[in-house]
Amino acid sequence: MVDTHEIVATQPRPKCPDKDEIRLNFSDLKLPEPLLRAVADMGFETPTPIQAAGLPKLLTGADLAGQAQTGTGKTACFLLGTMTRLLEVPRPEDGSPRALIVAPTRELAIQIASDAEQLAVHTALEIGLCYGGVDWDKQASRLRDGVDIVVGTPGRLLDFYRNRVLRLGSIESFVLDEADRMFDMGFIKDITSLFRAIPPKHRRQSMLFSATLNESVMRLAYRFMNEPVEVSVTPDEIVLDHIEQELYHVASHEKMPLLLGLMKREQPQRTLVFVNTKRVGEELTWRLNHNGYQAAYMSGDIPQKKRQKIIGAFREGKIDLLVATDVASRGIHVDDITHVFNYDVPDDAEDYVHRIGRTARAGAHGKALTFCCEDYAVNLPGVERYIDMKVPTVFVEDVLIEHDRAGRFPRQRGRVYTGWPPEGDRDDERADAGGADGGRDGGRRKRRSDDKPAAAAADGGRKRSRRRKDGADGRTPTRRPRAAGPRQRPARRRRRPRAWAAAARQEQRRRGARGRDLGLER
Ligand code: AMP
Repeated sequence: MVDTHEIVATQPRPKCPDKDEIRLNFSDLKLPEPLLRAVADMGFETPTPIQAAGLPKLLTGADLAGQAQTGTGKTACFLLGTMTRLLEVPRPEDGSPRALIVAPTRELAIQIASDAEQLAVHTALEIGLCYGGVDWDKQASRLRDGVDIVVGTPGRLLDFYRNRVLRLGSIESFVLDEADRMFDMGFIKDITSLFRAIPPKHRRQSMLFSATLNESVMRLAYRFMNEPVEVSVTPDEIVLDHIEQELYHVASHEKMPLLLGLMKREQPQRTLVFVNTKRVGEELTWRLNHNGYQAAYMSGDIPQKKRQKIIGAFREGKIDLLVATDVASRGIHVDDITHVFNYDVPDDAEDYVHRIGRTARAGAHGKALTFCCEDYAVNLPGVERYIDMKVPTVFVEDVLIEHDRAGRFPRQRGRVYTGWPPEGDRDDERADAGGADGGRDGGRRKRRSDDKPAAAAADGGRKRSRRRKDGADGRTPTRRPRAAGPRQRPARRRRRPRAWAAAARQEQRRRGARGRDLGLER
């Protein structure tokens, strides 16, 4: 057997060609005519770098390991490759799917399926979508009717496979999207099971996309793929090219007033605000709404259907401000996001890149503003190491501090404030832990029982539903159920805010000068 370590170490990693080298058109790529028409309908004029580098390889039938994040056009890259292959051969009589696309989160799976529908509009290809949390029967019946391409999250796909709803024997095209995220979310066992369920690697084409082609990802690639060609679009390209970054050293209690001040100054069209914790996200959204903004909050706590509604409202411009935990940082394709705020410096340096990559999509210009407070300052060096640059510091001038008119946040136990739909149309629902960004534990739960509302989720499920009833009729005070699964990390010890405010001012003076010296104000 070949030592995969050795291959990983010696394999050259070709970068994407320079932009000038890749000025080809979609028609140069010899895509089937129905796909070319769909690409034109979608307004794509020229292939993005990952498409220009990856598609020619895919069209020769090679396996591909692509280093690319959302925003680079990777979805169209693997969908066009997959569809071209499927259009060349007839569909099996029994209607089994021929392509399987696996994504780590429901949002991403939904987005991929939606892109696939658009690209397949002039073909007879049928798309099936499988993800946990909703509609087991509906999704199953669609699969039974016969589809060509199945897009789904690992747990639900395996569930369907094990229940003989999904037949995987005819798969000739396999895509693993956001492979690094699959490792982070603990899905890798499920992925391995899926790889074992589909035909062997020499009888299928495999594609893997990941923000980083780290050693774990590459080991997986070499184990289950057929000498994949590596293509990469580096994070630096994404971060540095089109995103203007700013860093504000600020005490924790001044973050809200600063956010209000910056919103007033920047007048952004469409904004994402990232927070590290659900608690902060909820309160922040409420405060924004009580300061005259139309904001909504989204995290893994919000039931799936409601999350989809919120994303829809954001996409349609009914909401111009979305506060989110990292659930929204990948896979949500909303164009024209002009500003990303990191209300908290993320714990994971990679998340910084994923968050700010939500703006400046497909070549647009965007702005990323990061608040560095006493609680999360410890994360900043890791972020700067990862992106290989100092984020330019901006002084927090007094004029930037805007009074927060909201008052005290009336947190309601067992209810998540989402800000959308607005008052009067409100159907705030109780947290149902185990959403997409609850994937680390959510992904590991018993899928069938948790996914299917009809199947009682053992004890925990019964207790939860009884509490809901109690809380709803107002007779019994509700209590937050004790969190199941691994113990929570103890809360960080907070440094004294006043001391931090002084230290922050000193730090921004030190770094601000450097930022200007480097001409980073652009
Ligand atoms: P993705 O990297 O797949 O998340 O795609 C990012 C965004 O770029 C999506 O909104 C796509 O519709 C868009 N896109 C993909 N390919 C192209 C292209 N060749 N030209 C313009 N936009 C594109």
